[in-house]
Amino acid sequence: MAFDYDLFVIGGGSGGVRAARIAASEGGASVALAEQDRMGGTCVIRGCVPKKLMVFAADFPTAMADARAYGWGAETGAFDWPRFRAAMQAELARLEGVYRGNLERAGVSTYDARATIEDAHTVALSDGRRLRARHILVATGGRPWVPGRAAEAGVMTSDDVFHLDALPRSLLVVGGGYIASEFACIFNGLGVDVTQFYRGGQILRGFDDGARGHVAAAMRAHGVGLEVETDVEAIERVADGFRVTDTRGRSRVFEQVLYATGRAPNTGGLGLEAAGVALGARGEVPVDAYSQTAVPSIYAVGDATDRVNLTPVAIREGEAFARTVFCANPRAVDHALVASAVFTRPEIGSVGLSEEEAAAREPVEIYAAAFRPMHSAFAGRDDRAMMKLVVSRATRVVLGCHIVADGAGEMIQLAAIALGMGATKEDFDRTMAVHPTMAEELVTMKVPIRST
Ligand code: NDP
Repeated sequence: MAFDYDLFVIGGGSGGVRAARIAASEGGASVALAEQDRMGGTCVIRGCVPKKLMVFAADFPTAMADARAYGWGAETGAFDWPRFRAAMQAELARLEGVYRGNLERAGVSTYDARATIEDAHTVALSDGRRLRARHILVATGGRPWVPGRAAEAGVMTSDDVFHLDALPRSLLVVGGGYIASEFACIFNGLGVDVTQFYRGGQILRGFDDGARGHVAAAMRAHGVGLEVETDVEAIERVADGFRVTDTRGRSRVFEQVLYATGRAPNTGGLGLEAAGVALGARGEVPVDAYSQTAVPSIYAVGDATDRVNLTPVAIREGEAFARTVFCANPRAVDHALVASAVFTRPEIGSVGLSEEEAAAREPVEIYAAAFRPMHSAFAGRDDRAMMKLVVSRATRVVLGCHIVADGAGEMIQLAAIALGMGATKEDFDRTMAVHPTMAEELVTMKVPIRST
């Protein structure tokens, strides 16, 4: 049977690009990749990267206020959103070029087209071409999911944020996950009047309860109008924005509404089911530890599989797939102990089990500290940092580490190495502190605040 390629990758995001490059450059495979939108995918074009640039932009008013407290003459002035947006889009275009260049250098053929699967080895492109490949990799990512009535009213999703013509004066953010909480903080920092609705009792479900409470209090103190146990009851477009009636019976007009109510695998209309791959309830592609589907020639990685929906995980899955199939080096990705950061203000950095998860499994000791960091305390800010270690009483192994602080994302990366190596509380204790830092609290907490 003649094939046009050894591998056809559908989707030019983090997972697909990594798989294509490794299969071609290290596995010696002939590889093609189709992308229907911009090369780089969610992370580069409409996710992590532009989001983080907006986080940086939103931090400047606080930095300016701190500068004044430290003796500098510094005026914040007005924020020029169109100028920032143009610079941000130019940076994304540069990164898109880097992704294309890397694929070209690895010898991967690229198609700017939508691809669908016709059978176990055939891909049809939206430009009419049909290509046959020994293996097909689905790396189509995810897309925002919005409840029907809100979608009908024309609310924004995170995809739209980076293209706004102007910053709204008022914004309602709906949801309490990563995306909702991060954008609530970003727009608040940029001077927008932000209200956030979350239907449950506390935002960031799944994170350590202490960390969730700490960050929610800080967000409110910084001016985010966070309203929990509140949802949208009715929404309609009006001349000056959206009239929203909430589940508490109040009616308000917001200039813009951002829904961040979750993401769904981007697998609709791909042809997977006709090719013999039954999709899961959320549209995810079921795969084994090697990312192989029920059809042996079809694999899937990243958010399309709805395992751990984070960019570095998709990259690892793409790499493991390519090494398994094209480098005779079978690899399964370990999805345990994946650290992550939420770029709220302050940030959360988290790895391992929350106190609640750990305590449900075994007796634990909790070591925690909340304190005013030197930098912001000097500037007269009331912000507090929080560090927490969840320790097994039986083995002394540190089961979880949770940090709420400026730079928590940077700190948790290093703590994740220690937890991955199975560090005990005593390993933390005998590590010399780095002074004066915030992270030194991680190695100086001597007495548990509670035990279960
Ligand atoms: P999440 O699943 O994290 O959060 C969705 C939120 O919307 C939850 O608070 C959920 O409430 C709420 N919700 C769901 N359905 C409804 C509804 N019908 N009405 C009202 N509220 C609703 O999704 P996100 O979109 O925030 O993020 C998607 C994924 O992207 C994350 O899981 C994460 O893996 C990734 N991501 C990671 C980032 C990072 O690492 N910094 C940043 C951004 C995204 P409830 O809790 O009650 O279910």
